[in-house]
Amino acid sequence: MTAVGIDLGTTNSCIAVWRKAGVVEVIKDIEGALVTPSMVAVKDNGEVLVGWPAKREAELNPEHTYRSVKRLIGRAFTEDETAQMATKSPFAIARADNGEAWIQGRDNPMPPAQISGMVMTRLKKAAERALGREVTKAVITVPAFFNDAQRRATRDAAGIAGIEVLRIVNEPTAAALAADIDARDGRTVAVYDLGGGTFDLSVLRAESGQFEVLSTNGDTFLGGDDFDARLIDWVAERFLADHGVDLREGKVSLQRLADEAERVKRALSESDRVQFSIPYAALEPVKPGADGRPHIDLDLEITREQFDGLTADLVARTIDCCEAALADAGIAPGDVDELLLVGGMTRAPAVLEAATTYFGGVPWRAPDPDQIVARGAAILAAALTGQLDIELVDVTPHPIGIETADHSMAVLIPAQTKIPCQVKRACTTQVDSQEAVTVRLRQGGAELAADNLALGQFHLEGIGARPAGAARVDVTIDIDVDGIVTASAKDRATGRSNNITAEAAGLAPKAVERMAKAARSVRGEAA
Ligand code: AMP
Repeated sequence: MTAVGIDLGTTNSCIAVWRKAGVVEVIKDIEGALVTPSMVAVKDNGEVLVGWPAKREAELNPEHTYRSVKRLIGRAFTEDETAQMATKSPFAIARADNGEAWIQGRDNPMPPAQISGMVMTRLKKAAERALGREVTKAVITVPAFFNDAQRRATRDAAGIAGIEVLRIVNEPTAAALAADIDARDGRTVAVYDLGGGTFDLSVLRAESGQFEVLSTNGDTFLGGDDFDARLIDWVAERFLADHGVDLREGKVSLQRLADEAERVKRALSESDRVQFSIPYAALEPVKPGADGRPHIDLDLEITREQFDGLTADLVARTIDCCEAALADAGIAPGDVDELLLVGGMTRAPAVLEAATTYFGGVPWRAPDPDQIVARGAAILAAALTGQLDIELVDVTPHPIGIETADHSMAVLIPAQTKIPCQVKRACTTQVDSQEAVTVRLRQGGAELAADNLALGQFHLEGIGARPAGAARVDVTIDIDVDGIVTASAKDRATGRSNNITAEAAGLAPKAVERMAKAARSVRGEAA
């Protein structure tokens, strides 16, 4: 059975396989590209398109072309990031019954994991076609800063694609595995990974086949999409002032604006000034232009300096994360021997300069920043199936704790704890004769418990009429190698126990099965 590595990206996804020592092959999409857009479109007639065909559909059918869904995966509808995404997306975001942010499909809301599962199905089909055999096992990468809900949802996505997850590995860690390992022996490496939707900074020590992550930090809502959004707003405001038409109001014009913004952003990595042009830009918004013309072309020049000014705070936020990660690792920027740059956005000169200045060295940039994460995942897949010898120790990015009586967060597992890990802690009752105890488990760095992700709660009843502080409830928390959390609680006196896993977020196996069937039935270009 062949095991592959999959980078499920915000913008593009990639699949790779380990062939033999030193040879990792990126598998081409059925259309010949080395990456596949992480997009799904549903046409008027219900036909589903995945990957490149979906990307081509975006302009025609913006409301039902779902992209950047990784920014939503595992998120609650009420999160600020969900609201932000809702204002910028041509497709609608719905509140699922369980409170999660789902995508409003033509017929019903769909979890983001279903979209990701369809993208993975396409990747899997391409791999099976290229390798001539079934592919059922994979290492899947996620942003290092992904929390438990986001990791579980990613695992569900793999389930929808009929893929058994060998390991969920952090993207920067995977990139480090694929980088030129020998040259980094015994060195401290910082991986700065700015992709389409997320930012991660991981600090590692690499020592003859052993990789140890010292610390990690990041932002799961900071990436190329945010740079695009700044350009979109800048252009749209200018156009509004000049012509009285807000291009962001029409779904089609917003989509065209977004596509052009991304092109201009990339071009600004090469040139000092770029023309932002959309013919017939104001064709669709119902209001005619102030000058009475039925349509108006958009043609504006933007300089790199202007673009850098519009996005300076985003770049600064990445440096804040770097500072936090280094502080956690107990090292200074000068202690970093190697800087690896990963992710398409590191091609932007301002990003490159900020990272290089902060770390004070010449960065090592992957020759293939779009594929290096998938390559690393393929290397790990080979190691986990006994074909290679690699040792890898990663850390948990967010603290885990319980809510105290005053609603603050009592941390039981600090961030940067090596995983897998297990922690046991005795909790007690607050008042005399308390019959029941509720333990609320949360993940996150906020002081106020409610601001952190709810992982679930235990409710233990009938613990007896004992004085405050006499009862003892033992709470055990496990974080596995995938960074996924499970927990249980047991009352010492009565032996009553309770498991939190059942409450945790994620799709029911039946739902995964139904979605898997739907994903398989997509008219397979690669079937
Ligand atoms: P990744 O998820 O690593 O594939 O990164 C994708 C992000 O990188 C998207 O936001 C792209 O627009 C952005 N990107 C790709 N190439 C460039 C470039 N040459 N200059 C600036 N941004 C780029």
